[in-house]
Order: sequence, then C-alpha cells, then structure tokens
Amino acid sequence: MTDKILMVHGSGGEATGELIREVFGRAFGYDPSAPLEDAAVVEGAAGLAVTTDSFVVTPLIFAGGDIGRLSVCGTVNDLLMRGARPAYLTAGFILEEGLSVEVLSQVAASMAETAREAGIRIVTGDTKVVEGRGGLYINTAGIGLIDAGEALPSAAGAREGDVIIVSGTLGDHHAAILGERLGIRTASRSDNAPLTDMVGRLKAAGIACHALRDITRGGLATVLKELAEASAKTFVIREEAVPVTPAVRDFCGLMGLDPLYMGNEGKLAAVVAAEEADRALALIRASRYGQDAAIIGEVRGGEPGTLLLTTAIGGLRRLDILQGEGLPRIC
Ligand code: MG
Repeated sequence: MTDKILMVHGSGGEATGELIREVFGRAFGYDPSAPLEDAAVVEGAAGLAVTTDSFVVTPLIFAGGDIGRLSVCGTVNDLLMRGARPAYLTAGFILEEGLSVEVLSQVAASMAETAREAGIRIVTGDTKVVEGRGGLYINTAGIGLIDAGEALPSAAGAREGDVIIVSGTLGDHHAAILGERLGIRTASRSDNAPLTDMVGRLKAAGIACHALRDITRGGLATVLKELAEASAKTFVIREEAVPVTPAVRDFCGLMGLDPLYMGNEGKLAAVVAAEEADRALALIRASRYGQDAAIIGEVRGGEPGTLLLTTAIGGLRRLDILQGEGLPRIC
C-alpha cells in the first residue's frame, strides 16, 4: 500500500479494501474470512447508555497520547459517568488526502490497545477520504450496559452534605496540547486515560456516587458549576486542596492560565455521601490513574446553582462556567 492516503482510498473499491485490511484490520484484529455485514449484532442488557463524540485534536500525536487513545477514553469515560459498563464502540474515520499511513496505523494500534485496557470492543467502523492537508478526524459512538435496578449517578444527584472528590491533578491534557502547539518545552503529559478500573472499584465496593462527571473541556470549575445548577445546590471547594502538578503550575504562571478552567481527559469529579467519602477516596487512590485523588469540597444547601471557591488567603470567590472559547481543538 502507498505511504500516504490518496483520494482513491475513499473510492469504496479495491484501494478502500486494502486500507481497511492493512490499517484497521491489522489494528482491530477483524477476521478476513468473516462476512462484512452492514451492522454488528451484539448482546444487550436491561438498559443501554449511548453516547457519541468527535475528535479533532491537533497535533494528532502528543506527549502522553494521541487522537486514537483520546477517542476511546473520551467515549468510555462518558459511559462510565452514567454508571454503565462500557461494551461496544463504533469508529468513523475522516481522512484527509496526504495523511501518512504510518501515522494512521500508529493511531489505529493505539485505539485498539486503549480499547483492550478500557474493556470495550470496537465492533464497527467507517472510512471516508476528503481533500485536505493530511488531517484526521474520528467520530465514535459508545454503548454501555446497565443492569436492572442499578442506582445511576446523575448531574442532578448531588445532596446537601455530600463530599466532592477529584481523581487527580488538573490541566495536564490542556498544558500538553498547548505546549506542543506553541513549541514550548514542558514536562506536562496528557492524562488521557480510561477510568474503567477506578469506577469499577467504586461500584464493586457498593459506593453509589450521587453525581459523577469526567473533567474535560471547560475544566473543573465548569463541570462543578453545571452539577451545582442541575442539582440546585451550592458547591464549595478549597483552592489549596485542588491537586495540580508543579509542571502545570509553572505553565499556568507562564501563560496566565487557571488550572480550574483547563481541560483533562482522564480525571473525574465524584459527589458522594459524607460517610462514604474516605472509603471512596482510598478506592480511587488505589486505582489506576487515581493516585493523586483528593477531597476538595462539599455540597451545601445555600443558593441553588452556585459554585464558591475558598482561596488560599481565605477569600471567597464565586466561579462561573468557562467564558470564551478556551483552547480550540483540544480534543
Ligand atoms: Mg463527559
């Protein structure tokens, strides 16, 4: 096969077949003797969670990850946040002419590896080729299984007296992507990771998270403000308790950024009952990607939909959702 994607790879003919065999078949291990059907037929459950996402991140490969790993993590984590067990993933690829086949193969291999880690199966996909400058976009759909009678976390589920936990350091993905794009040397690496192990441990221990959300675009402040609004509660967090690596702290100082509004791709915020908070924190810390987890605040009655930050010097600051565009093409 050629080493660059050509328009002919989108023809639906022989070259498309070669692309599917050589790149995706190799990465995702499909059986060439099995008939190519129009749709995958899969096992179900009492309830299904369904989510979709598109990935346009640039650069395609960055410190700590790549668009393929990101596409699996983003979709898997959204299923987990609704209490579902990730089961099936679809992957649509839009390839721009001139894309390096080596890069595409690397991305596909990374997707396959991340899907194995996350416990999700890539069951169907599609490829289109368009004119362009060698870019790559991925659209996914994720399907998760929900057993009958399970208590599901919800954005509206936070109760007065609950405790807020974050699963690790903030801003790592944002700093890694922005650093790469600006050519700034930074020790930050993307935190893109599937949180299957973390959420699975909480579930296995019988901890019912009242609200659960992955901290992606817009950062922690946006996520908590949205949960406070949906739950009609006041959320209060302590600035000093929010974990941030020295590398991200330095990067924020240099760029004038606030880690509370920076995107991550492998962190979550969990709202749990106060009496379960210490146990939940210990379980998250023992899980993969959770070693820096911390309790950062609590839920109060107060004015509905309010997010307050107690600053390091003892002030009280009201936080809003992210205003403006943030960092384009971060995921
Ligand atoms: Mg999400």
